[in-house]
Order: sequence, then C-alpha cells, then structure tokens
Amino acid sequence: MRYVKLLKENFKDFFENLKKFGEVHAPVKRGNSFSFAKVDSPSEVALKYNRTILPPKKYFIKPFEEVLKIKVGKGYEPLVEEPKSLILLGLHACDINALKILDSIYLDEPPDDYYQIRRTATVIIGISCEPDDYCFCKSMGADYAWTGFDLFLHELDNSYLIRIGSSRGEVMIESMKNVISEPTKEDFIKLRDIELKRSRMFKKALNTSLLPDIVDSLYESDVWVKFSDKCVSCGSCNLVCPTCRCYDVTEKVELNLKEGVRVRRWDSCFIRSHALVAGGLNFRPTRLDRFRHRYNCKSSIEPRTNSPFCVGCGRCSAFCPAGIDHVDVLNAIWGLT
Ligand code: SF4
Ligand code: SF4
Repeated sequence: MRYVKLLKENFKDFFENLKKFGEVHAPVKRGNSFSFAKVDSPSEVALKYNRTILPPKKYFIKPFEEVLKIKVGKGYEPLVEEPKSLILLGLHACDINALKILDSIYLDEPPDDYYQIRRTATVIIGISCEPDDYCFCKSMGADYAWTGFDLFLHELDNSYLIRIGSSRGEVMIESMKNVISEPTKEDFIKLRDIELKRSRMFKKALNTSLLPDIVDSLYESDVWVKFSDKCVSCGSCNLVCPTCRCYDVTEKVELNLKEGVRVRRWDSCFIRSHALVAGGLNFRPTRLDRFRHRYNCKSSIEPRTNSPFCVGCGRCSAFCPAGIDHVDVLNAIWGLT
C-alpha cells in the first residue's frame, strides 16, 4: 500500500483539487448530530465526528425512488439516472466495510443497475476516527478498512498520512503533487502509536465467535422478551443501519389509468407489514418475533465477504428511542449481564 503525506495547512488545496473529480459530500454538523451533505468549502466539513445519523448507503440505495415507468398495456421502462461523479469524503472504516457488504449483495449477479451506476461514479475517501461509548467495530473486525476506498486519511498531529487504495486514488494523488509529500520514518512511528492508542480506547466489546449459532440456538431465551418489551417497533434501528438493505416495492397508477410508476423505499423488518405475504399470512406477527429476527440477521455471516452483517458502528444503539443497546442485548444472550 502506498502512502503520501498531506500537511493540514494544505488541506484547503487538497479539498479544492477534489472538486475537479466530482461533487464533494462530507459529514457536516447539524445541531448535536452529523449528516453527510454537499459541501463547498473545508470549513463546512466536520472531520472529527462520531457517526452520522444516516449512513452513506443513502447515496446508493435512495430512501425513496421511482425505478420503473409504467405504460398500462405496454409494459415497464427503467428510470435509470445519468451517473453523477461524487466524492464521499470522511467515511469511517466501519462505513467502508458496510459498503462492501452492500456491494456483495447489490452488485452480485444480476447487479442492481441503480446501485451500480451510483457506486461506480463515487470516490470513497476514508478518515481515521476514535471510538466513543457506542462503537464496537473492533469486535466485528470492521475497525480497519483494508480495501473498499480510493484514499484513506490517517490523522497525525499536523498532517494526514494518505493511504492510496485504488488506481483512481493514484490518479487523484498524481494531480495533487504540489500539495503532497513523501512520509518520513517518524510519520510511520506516529501512525503506529496512534493506532495502538485507538485500539485500546474501545469501551464496548462483543464476543463474536459462535455468535450466529448462540443467537439462533437460544431462540427461546427470556432475554428476547425482556428487551423486546421495551422496543416500540419504530424501525429506526433499521433505517440508520449501514448494512440494512430491505426495501418495499409498490406501484402507483395515475388517475388517467394509462401511466404509472413503480417505486421502492427503505423498509424495516420491525414493521408488522414487512413479513405479511399474499393470502394474509404474517410469518413474524409479534414484536418479539421481529426483535429476534433482527438480531439473528445482524449476527449472521455474509457468505461472500465472510464477515458479520453488523459492523459495530453503534448507530442502532445511539438512535434507539427506547434506549436498547445492541451489545447489551447480545451480552445478555451470552449470559454476561
Ligand atoms: S430503534 Fe429501538 S425501539 Fe425502534 S425498533 Fe429498533 S430496537 Fe425497537
Ligand atoms: S446493527 Fe447496529 S451497530 Fe451493527 S451495523 Fe447496524 S446500526 Fe451499526
């Protein structure tokens, strides 16, 4: 892996150079929270942040979108948009690893055209971070991004060491020769020390060996009842999760009964209608069924990436209105609390 060095005093120039490659989106502060949004200047960017409410998946699977145009009697026509070059600046390692899980699903044969077009046109630039009270990405093996990015900025004291992760990243760095330099031996020692310190900062831990089987085989545990009794089935944990990917599909026909659209929108397995099938059967009719299902899903292993479906970003815990903490639930299943 090749590294280059960017002095913080040159970040503005780096940012201006990025604009040549597409529209720049980055985390921005909104009240007490953070959100990915279009940015025009570095002063808008919150490079030190814990987590955005919605993960970067919102750029690739839209919360609500029209996917097919319907001409009644004639059939369906895809509504595929023109690709727009986008730079997503400031993704944490967990969110980059989450995108790899979404890729393994949406880009598998046959690929989802809508997702593929946006994904191909988007440059991913990661940034290092420090864990807060909710982060457990280290337990999930998602605290470090080996692949899945074009550039990754590791913050040192007054500079960033930039890891180049793709040929696209190489091209971008080649065009910024005036703002970057070669790292020194001391820079790599600093990087080592910072990584070691970060690794020791995690407060939350989850035992992941055997986790899928433990969650599945203890299906009858009273722990599920205890926590699901507090759950209000709002579905927020699904919407904020960077790896939740279920959507609902509906069709709308215009009043003229000649045209219409097929739309898809994010769905939540916590909502009762999610498991309702033709004929009126609901195979997860109770909140308890839905609660257990989500923990089964998130604790299982994605066969193509061989990694868990949870990357430990802590969003579901941080934004649950009932105060249900993902790690607390699973630690209770392990009999640790
Ligand atoms: S966010 Fe909390 S209350 Fe809402 S569905 Fe998820 S676990 Fe239940
Ligand atoms: S289950 Fe919770 S902690 Fe895990 S990836 Fe989803 S939102 Fe993040």
